[in-house]
Amino acid sequence: MAKQIQAIRGMNDLLPSQTPAWHKLEQAIRELTASYGYSEIRTPIVESTDLFKRSIGEVTDIVEKEMYTFEDRNGDSLTLRPEGTASTVRAGNQHGLLYNQEQRLWYVGPMFRHERPQKGRYRQFHQFGVEVYGLNGPDIDAEVLLMSARLWKKLGLAEHVTLELNTLGDSDERAAYRDALVAYLEQHKESLDEDSQRRMYSNPLRVLDSKSPKTQALLGDAPKLMDFFGEDTKAHFSGLCELLDQAGIQYVVNPRLVRGLDYYNRTVFEWVTSSLGAQGTVLAGGRYDGLVNQLGGKPTPAVGFASGMERLVLLLQELELVESEPAIADVYVAAMGAGSQAAAFALSEQLRDEAPELKVMSHCGGGNFKKQMKRADKSGARVALILGEDEIARGEVMVKPLRRDEAQRSVALSEVAQVIKDSI
Ligand code: ATP
Ligand code: MG
Repeated sequence: MAKQIQAIRGMNDLLPSQTPAWHKLEQAIRELTASYGYSEIRTPIVESTDLFKRSIGEVTDIVEKEMYTFEDRNGDSLTLRPEGTASTVRAGNQHGLLYNQEQRLWYVGPMFRHERPQKGRYRQFHQFGVEVYGLNGPDIDAEVLLMSARLWKKLGLAEHVTLELNTLGDSDERAAYRDALVAYLEQHKESLDEDSQRRMYSNPLRVLDSKSPKTQALLGDAPKLMDFFGEDTKAHFSGLCELLDQAGIQYVVNPRLVRGLDYYNRTVFEWVTSSLGAQGTVLAGGRYDGLVNQLGGKPTPAVGFASGMERLVLLLQELELVESEPAIADVYVAAMGAGSQAAAFALSEQLRDEAPELKVMSHCGGGNFKKQMKRADKSGARVALILGEDEIARGEVMVKPLRRDEAQRSVALSEVAQVIKDSI
C-alpha cells in the first residue's frame, strides 16, 4: 500500500465531530461584534515579511523564531501572517480607512507560528480579534473589554476567566524607564539567565517577562515603570479602571504584564483561565497608538485584542458546554420498496420548504428496513419518516419516533411538517 501523507505537525484537521463547537463560537462572535456595531475585515493570509518585522518588532519571539517565511517565485520575502493587527493596519492605510476616521473592525482566521506544538499551542491556529482606530480615550479601551466580557457570558465561560490589566505608559516614559532598567540590569548581569542577558540591550522590557526564577528574584528591586508615568498616562489608566468598576467588570492590576509584541503602549490586558494548564491566556490585547504611523500612515490612536479560538474550543469542551456527539439530523426519511426513492426525495424537499429549521436527511443506498433504521439511529434523528408503496398510494407517510417510547402512526403528507414540529 502507498504510504499515507500526514498533516503538518501542529496544523490540525477539524473533524466533523469538532466543527459544531467551532460553529457555536463563530456564531457567538458574529452576534457579539454586530451587537457593538463592529464591521468585519478580511485580509490575505500572506504578507510581505517586512510588515511583521516593522510592526511586531525584530527582537520578539514571533519575529526571531516563529515566522513561516519563504521566498516566492519572484524572490520576494513573504510570511504567513502570525497575527492579525499588522495586516489590519496595512489594509487600513492602503485603502484610506484610518486617517481622521473612526473604525471599529473585527476579523477571524488562521494564523501561523512555528512553535513547539502542545495542548493549546499549535503552528496553525485561529484568532478572532477586534481593532479600533481614531479614538484615544479610555472609554474605547473599556468598550473592547466590555465586549470580551460579554463573549464569556454568551459562551458560559464567565466564571472561568479573569482579567489582568496593566499600563505600559507612552513611548517617552518607556524610554526613560528603559534606561533606568538597563542600568540596573547591568549591575546584576552575571545573575541573569542567558535569554535576558541577550535581551537586556535589545528589548529590556521583555526581561520583566522572563520565566527564569533567578531573573525574577532580581526584578523585585528593579526600578518600577510606574514611577516614570506622567499625568496623562495615569489619568488614562484610572479613567479606564473607573469605567470598568462602574460596569461591574472585575480585574486584577498586574504590573508584570508587558505582552510579547513591541507595538503596545498604555493599556494592556489579558483574560486568563486556570482550566487549560500552561496555555491559559485566551484573549490578549491593548493600545497601540504608534503603529499606524510606524507603518506609514498618519498618526492614529488604536486599540484592540486577539483571542485564541482553539483555546476557547478546548475550554468549551472541557467544561462540557458543547455536545460531544451532536445530532446530524432531526428527521430521517427512509424509502422502502421499488419506486419509493423519488417520493422520499419529494417529501424531504417538501419538509425543507415547510420547515427550514429542521435538519432533514434522506436515506440513500437502498437496503432493508433494519439497515435504514440503523442509519436513522446513527444520524441522531428524533423521528424517522418511512415511505413504502402502500403509504405512497394513500398520500401518507409512517411517522416513527426514535427517541421516545411512542407508537408509529400514519400521517397525511400535507400534515407531516406540523406533526414533526409538534413532536420534536
Ligand atoms: P503566549 O504567551 O501563549 O505565547 P502570545 O503572547 O504569543 O501568547 P498573542 O500574540 O497575544 O499571544 O496572541 C493572542 C492569543 O492568541 C493568545 O492569547 C492565545 O490565546 C492565542 N495564541 C497565540 N499563539 C498561539 C498558538 N501558537 N496556538 C494557539 N493559540 C495561540
Ligand atoms: Mg507566543
